[in-house]
Amino acid sequence: MKRRTLLQALAGMPLIAALRQAGAAGPADAKGVEELHRNWKTFLASGADVALTTEPLRRSNDEWRKLLTPAQYGVLREEGTERPGSSPLNGEKRPGVFVCAACSLPLFTSAMKYESGTGWPSFFTTIPGAFGTRRDFRLILPRTEYHCIRCGGHHGHVFDDGPRPTGQRYCNNGVALRFIPKTGAA
Ligand SMILES: [Zn+2]
Repeated sequence: MKRRTLLQALAGMPLIAALRQAGAAGPADAKGVEELHRNWKTFLASGADVALTTEPLRRSNDEWRKLLTPAQYGVLREEGTERPGSSPLNGEKRPGVFVCAACSLPLFTSAMKYESGTGWPSFFTTIPGAFGTRRDFRLILPRTEYHCIRCGGHHGHVFDDGPRPTGQRYCNNGVALRFIPKTGAA
């Protein structure tokens, strides 16, 4: 593996910092973020098939294997990482909601997404209460892994190099998400 590729894989770091800045289209202040947290349901299509409870959903590995594609299973249940640039959701810019591909819990809205330049769908905040976190030391350096609070599925890692005002970058595997546009077909 080339050193550059290795470094990118290690930290999920943006290729060019400038790209990140240019794509940082988040709200101007913390109040704007609060607003996004409070009004996330305005991004939800009427009658959308989503889970509106965070009550834990437990299934055996065999059950998950039947419900998920091998790529989804590899990320959600085995903490794998998809190839950067491989998700069609990288370019998804329509208004709508991103839900967990395994259990349909709403996780992010389109207004929380930004272009990080990493090749993974990136968000500067989340729908409140959607995730639990855990430190992982898989790559020696500590990282904060996050998972769906309902089904426990692994989604990605959160870094502190995101845009203002949150400074957070939720680096999410696209294959672990399902996008529901506010209007029109998925
Ligand atoms: Zn889930």
